[in-house]
Formats: sequence, structure tokens, C-alpha cells
Amino acid sequence: MFIMTRKRVAVIGAGVVGVSAAYYLSKDESIDLTIFDDGIGQGTSAAAGIISPWLSRRRNKKWYHMVKEGAAFYPDFLSDVMNGDTIPPSVYKQVGTLVFKTNDQYLDDLLDIGEKRRENAPEIGELKILPPEKVREKVPIYTKESPALWASGGARVDGKKLVELVLEEASKNGASLVKERVTLSQSEEGYVVHTSTGPLLFDSVVLAAAAWLPELLGPLDYEVDSRPQKGQLVEVKLAGYNTNDWPVIMPEGEEDIIPFENGHVIIGATHENEEGFNLDIDENRLKDMIVIAADKFSDTLKTASIESYRSGTRAYTSDFSPFFGPVPGHQQLFAASGLGSTGLTAGPLVGKCLAQLVMEETPDLPLADYPIEQYVKQTNEPPSF
Ligand SMILES: Cc1cc2nc3c(=O)[nH]c(=O)nc-3n(C[C@H](O)[C@H](O)[C@H](O)COP(=O)(O)OP(=O)(O)OC[C@H]3O[C@@H](n4cnc5c(N)ncnc54)[C@H](O)[C@@H]3O)c2cc1C
Repeated sequence: MFIMTRKRVAVIGAGVVGVSAAYYLSKDESIDLTIFDDGIGQGTSAAAGIISPWLSRRRNKKWYHMVKEGAAFYPDFLSDVMNGDTIPPSVYKQVGTLVFKTNDQYLDDLLDIGEKRRENAPEIGELKILPPEKVREKVPIYTKESPALWASGGARVDGKKLVELVLEEASKNGASLVKERVTLSQSEEGYVVHTSTGPLLFDSVVLAAAAWLPELLGPLDYEVDSRPQKGQLVEVKLAGYNTNDWPVIMPEGEEDIIPFENGHVIIGATHENEEGFNLDIDENRLKDMIVIAADKFSDTLKTASIESYRSGTRAYTSDFSPFFGPVPGHQQLFAASGLGSTGLTAGPLVGKCLAQLVMEETPDLPLADYPIEQYVKQTNEPPSF
């Protein structure tokens, strides 16, 4: 009788990148998949949830390509995960985006940028400058008198729910999840993931460990240019408002306003480069964010009740560019990191690319544009087993 030997694959990290990689790997019956996740400080479950990359003034074309394609991929990814069933609106919904600028000329310039970009990114949808009364039709609590740029393709996603949904589908396909912090080493037989119950051997490993990648690759003699950035935000409840279809609101500054369902609204997030992996909540700073958001958008926000505070860790590189690919010197070890403040947007596509590499397929994003060797450098030759 012919017995097929399945390829043993580990995914370390179950944020948006890891679960997306795991989902695609779990569909391949020749793979025996185990996912490891610690979860503390995870960026994905802390994220604000904005999927609207097209109106950024950042000039990095390769980054833009990644996030534009990432945003376009979301509906297809989730339809795939849902097997054609309706995507739960509490997880992901295209509600549009309202972008504000302090100066009307900047808004006109942004409209020009958006119209040019729409030629290659039809998913931006309708673009137009809305006068304040039209902004109020979309978000009745708006009390200011500035116009906004409307992009109908913008979406919001609940990172925590997204991860849960995708993990559930991966486990239906046979993947197992181990919820603990692990370390990695290499032996003659393959890669060894060290768990609290002993070592486990794998043929191939995906490191979707964001800001924790240096810690995982250090023992294998690599220096990694990726570091933590702390982000904090606050969730408030606007009692009595149906916020289900309100768009994502992006005033200038850090205080974005992301309405979810049934009056739940996120305000944030901070970008703190000097805090390392510290997750402490600074309530005063977050209360100030509510006041600033209220001053820019609507005093009603000041009357909202505070539901919760969240903090999480983003990963960023020294030039703020993301990377992914095979770890230099290894053919069966793959990693991604440095997705920064738009990693929720790029995550499903980057995860799919990592899965494609494991399955020896050509990744949907060009590897050469996100060169891992620029950020992951060997300090010693790997052993030649
Ligand atoms: C406050 C905040 C707001 C944000 N808002 C947005 C937004 O609106 N839009 C957007 O596009 N992006 C946003 N981001 C960025 C986005 O959330 C991240 O870039 C993205 O989630 C990164 O995904 P990831 O899968 O690479 O990493 P993560 O989601 O951080 O997941 C990595 C996982 O690996 C696990 N791990 C690491 N090492 C180990 C180990 N040794 N053993 C076991 N497990 C391990 C960690 O515990 C973690 O669970 C935000 C981030 C923050 C913090």
C-alpha cells in the first residue's frame, strides 16, 4: 500500500500574516500543519482596523504596491475563507473612508492623487469632496464645518475577529494550534520547535513573528533589522447610535475614528518608538485622544462611554519598508516582518505569499521588491547538515 509522507510545516505567529499563511497551507492535503502562537502584544488583535491605503502621501512605491494589492485582496480572501458564504460585517465591511485636511488645497491635491491612483486601483471606488452637510448625511454626529474627501472603497476590519475566523477555518482543514511561546533551532533532520512539552520536528517553518523575529532568529545567528513600536487606542460606545454603516474617519494626526457595529467606535492609535515591548496603558493619553478627536470631528465623542483600552506592538524596519521571503542561507525557513502601521491591510496577501513559497509556487507579490536579505543578516555561517 502506498503511504504518502506529509510535509511537516510549522507557522510561528498567529497574527494576520500567520493565520493567512496557515489558511492556505491547511488547504494542501500533503501538508501536516501546526501553528504556534503566544499572542501577548499581538499587533493584529490590537489594531484600529483601517483598510484604506490609497490616499497616503508616502512615496515608497513598493510599499504602496503591497498595501494596494493587500486591500484589493481582502474581499477575495474572506470569500474564500467563508466558502462563498456572506462575510460577517462584524469582521470586515466596506464602509468607505472620509479623509480630512486642515487646508482645502490639500484636499484638492489629495483628490488628484486619488484619481491618478484609481487608474491602477479601481477598488478605491467613488472619490469626491463632500461639503460638511454631506459628511453629516454619512455620520450624523459631525458638528464641524470642514469638507472631506470621500473614498467609497475604504473598509474596516476587526483584527481579533478576523484571526479567530481564519484560524477556525484552518483548524477545520486539519491544522493544529499550540498557544504558547516557542523557540527554534536546527538539527540534521530539520527544524526543531521547542515547546513546553518537548521538541517537535518540522521540514519547513514560517516565521510570522513580526517584532519578535529578531528573538527567534538570534539563536540561529541572524541579526534582524525589525523593532517594536507600541500602539495604544481606546474603544468607546456611542449609546443610541446605529454606527453599522458609518465610514472610517481620518482627521489629520493620530486620532483616527473607526466606527464598528452597534455604537462601538475605536479612536487611535499612538505610534511610540521608544517603548519596546511595553504594553502599559496610558489612560490620560488615551482620554486626551478622545478630546482631540472630538475637537476635530464631533463633541458627541466626549459624551461616549469608555469601553476598553488596547495596546499592541507593530514591527518596523530602519527604512520603514516591509520584507518577506526565504531566510538567507535556508531553503525551508521563511519569514516576514516590518509591516508597520499598514500590516493589517497587507497581512492576508503577505501570508498567502509565504504559503506560496512553502508550496514552491511563485508568490503573488514580487519577492525582489521586499528583499529579506537587506533586513535579515547572518552573523555566522549556518551549519551544513
Ligand atoms: C494599535 C495598533 C493599531 C493598528 N492599526 C492598523 C490599521 O488600522 N490598519 C492596518 O493596516 N494596520 C494597523 N496596525 C498594524 C497591524 O496591526 C500590524 O502591522 C499587523 O497586525 C502585523 O501582523 P503580523 O501577523 O505580522 O504580526 P502580529 O499580529 O503582531 O502577530 C505576531 C504573532 O506572533 C507571535 N509570536 C512571536 N514570537 C513568537 C514565539 N516565539 N512563539 C510563539 N508566538 C510568537 C506573537 O505573540 C503574535 O501573536 C496597527 C497596529 C497597532 C499596534
